[in-house]
Amino acid sequence: MKQVTARCIMCGKTYDVAEDHKDYPKLVQSKDAVFVCDRCNYKVRYESEEEQKPKKPM
Ligand SMILES: [Zn+2]
Repeated sequence: MKQVTARCIMCGKTYDVAEDHKDYPKLVQSKDAVFVCDRCNYKVRYESEEEQKPKKPM
């Protein structure tokens, strides 16, 4: 399977993105394509969901 090396804009780690990854075509087309790793993706999604929840009254 083909791979491309991409750097996560959030944690700065480099990852080997495999051909079947949704971002692969984008990363191959442009070296400047924005890549967010699965871990950071999950974190962002989790945090935005947390923000949408009503805050508990003290
Ligand atoms: Zn990351």
